[in-house]
Amino acid sequence: MKHVLVTGGAGFIGSNFVRHLLASEPEVRVVTLDLLTYAGRLENLENLPNPQQHRFIHGNICDRPLVNAILAEEAIDTIVHFAAESHVDRSISGPMPFIETNIVGTFTLLEAARNAWAEKSGPFRFHHVSTDEVFGALQPGDAPFSEKTAYDPHSPYSASKASSDHLVRAYGTTYHLPVTISNCSNNYGPYQFPEKLIPLMILNGMMQKPLPVYGQGAQVRDWLHVEDHCEAILRILKQGRDGETYCIGGDNQPSNLEIVRTICDLLDQKLPLANGQPHQSLIRFVTDRPGHDFRYDIDTAKIEQELGWKPKHNLQQGLSETIDWYLSNTAWLQSVMQKEEFNAWLEQNYQQ
Ligand code: NAD
Repeated sequence: MKHVLVTGGAGFIGSNFVRHLLASEPEVRVVTLDLLTYAGRLENLENLPNPQQHRFIHGNICDRPLVNAILAEEAIDTIVHFAAESHVDRSISGPMPFIETNIVGTFTLLEAARNAWAEKSGPFRFHHVSTDEVFGALQPGDAPFSEKTAYDPHSPYSASKASSDHLVRAYGTTYHLPVTISNCSNNYGPYQFPEKLIPLMILNGMMQKPLPVYGQGAQVRDWLHVEDHCEAILRILKQGRDGETYCIGGDNQPSNLEIVRTICDLLDQKLPLANGQPHQSLIRFVTDRPGHDFRYDIDTAKIEQELGWKPKHNLQQGLSETIDWYLSNTAWLQSVMQKEEFNAWLEQNYQQ
């Protein structure tokens, strides 16, 4: 691993990964390719460690000539593929970009990688970053998701990610492209765009605005700190076996309501409400998302046993640090909130 292409590196997890990689592997050259959609932000890539080792390229993973040129000119030997449309609600209201980026974009990258790999000698790796949502929903008593769980995606987002996983696996089997896949549970941490549950609750709580909770907030998710996810991906790049899939999770399964209440309690300690009420008084239950998966839980035995990875962050502590990050990065929040598209979407989707 000398020359790494990170797609979607200006997004939430991608930018955390670029930071983690540059800090952990100072000899490695990193190229970020990102379209800078509403979710991608150049601010996420400010103040990087070893910035002389990093280059940003603004572009689309569906642009085959551009991808070909990057792979050749930068002598890329490792691709870490994060770029995606990533928000389930947006996939329900407008699925087309999910098909284009998540499926056609992944296909375009795979084709370019196949050609580049055929023309070069030496090690090569295509790592595809995916989600546990491809496995569908768990019913009470079901075993956690694992690498052997059959795919059963329920939303256009998870269906598009499932499709991309199948393409990556097929390129490994058919063309022997050295691929790995990781399926990870919900991430939280710094630089997450505040349309997702945790940053949305932090942001609204900070602004003393209502905290919208789908249904009764009974859905259960596994939560992983983004730094733990980044370290897991780095382990897979260094020690993972070609053709293998690794499930990644945080071994925390609170309900959505429990997460929101924890955030409220932490906010009470850091930023009391002006009217003296606790932040939980801002919670509002809103109409549930169609087809909302009830429970996710993930078995991480394989990555723990094969690669010696374990999550380091405790959820309570990780949430507290994440709130501190949002409280001390208001310039970042302001620039996010100035995006009219985001504000309009928020209004439309979280009417009381
Ligand atoms: P994000 O929405 O924050 O970032 C996605 C990035 O991809 C953005 O910077 C965006 O500009 C870029 N992008 C979108 N379309 C592109 C295109 N056509 N060409 C180039 N760049 C494009 O997403 P995230 O939460 O950081 O998720 C990253 C990856 O991890 C996704 O593949 C997602 O499916 C997966 N994942 C996310 C989570 C989670 O909890 N967020 C959990 C498991 C897996």
